[in-house]
Amino acid sequence: MTMLSLDLTRLDREGSIELKASLPAASALWEGSGIEWDGSVEVKLKASLAGSGEIVVRGSLDGRLKQQCRRCLEPVEGQMGHELTLVFVAADEMGAEDDDGVHVYGQGTEIDLSNAVLEEVVFAVDPYVICKSDCKGLCSRCGTNRNKQTCNCTEDHTDSRWEALRVLKEK
Ligand SMILES: [Zn+2]
Ligand SMILES: [Zn+2]
Repeated sequence: MTMLSLDLTRLDREGSIELKASLPAASALWEGSGIEWDGSVEVKLKASLAGSGEIVVRGSLDGRLKQQCRRCLEPVEGQMGHELTLVFVAADEMGAEDDDGVHVYGQGTEIDLSNAVLEEVVFAVDPYVICKSDCKGLCSRCGTNRNKQTCNCTEDHTDSRWEALRVLKEK
């Protein structure tokens, strides 16, 4: 049983259930997703029965993302607040397929929502963040962070020594 499992027996009895979880940054759920957090992720969901075995889960995810500027590689922190709606249909429904944001659940007394939540997060997080719109990035020659220092490399990236060699060869 994970922190995000939905008790179907209880849902049947009560019609709707509220789920709250605090997913640690070190949770195995994020492993391999490329997503890192600074602190835990607060998940608040409300699951409701919507007839013919359909379950609608609505709620929010809040956490502080730990990312890297794609130009200068410095850490970038960003608050993530994401509203989500998940729809689950019973596997025995006609033509039930895991598609178009609809998830299929099988037999059993609970649904593990964590993978669906992870999918939402992966979809919502922009992997190509920059620290500021005018980030100058790293110098492609010496690696200096050009936001902090100016290096002595010229903007012209042809190396004069190779250029001299090329001229020699052509003689
Ligand atoms: Zn940057
Ligand atoms: Zn440089």
